Amino acid sequence: MEDADCLFCKIFRREIQADEVTRTDDVLVFRDRNPQAPTHLLAIPRRHSRDLGDFVAASDAREVGDLFSIASQQGRAASSGGYRIVVNEGALAGQTVFHLHLHVLAGRRFTWPPG
Ligand code: AMP
Ligand code: ZN
Repeated sequence: MEDADCLFCKIFRREIQADEVTRTDDVLVFRDRNPQAPTHLLAIPRRHSRDLGDFVAASDAREVGDLFSIASQQGRAASSGGYRIVVNEGALAGQTVFHLHLHVLAGRRFTWPPG
């Protein structure tokens, strides 16, 4: 369920400080330390999974649903004009932290296709 050496597990356990926005028993939302938009949040599950595929394989529907529900609430709260949720899985997609996280980005116009 948890990984002793994982950065985001440590943030969830408050062993490493982060700028927390909200939390439940199973989900934490905190501010990305290198923001790519006026609002750039990371929503993470308590369960340690290296990526989205592992998370959905290991979790029940409630856990997956709660994570997306909280991420969408935060996106809507940040901007009535729209927001973007990004999940990077694997090196080709640019994943650098191997504990699943949803990027919640808002506060500017986003282009498509993404870089
Ligand atoms: P990804 O490239 O999708 O794995 O995204 C990892 C994100 O985590 C990046 O946007 C980083 O800026 C962010 N990040 C890494 N370490 C921390 C930290 N200690 N606190 C907040 N955000 C972090
Ligand atoms: Zn972890």
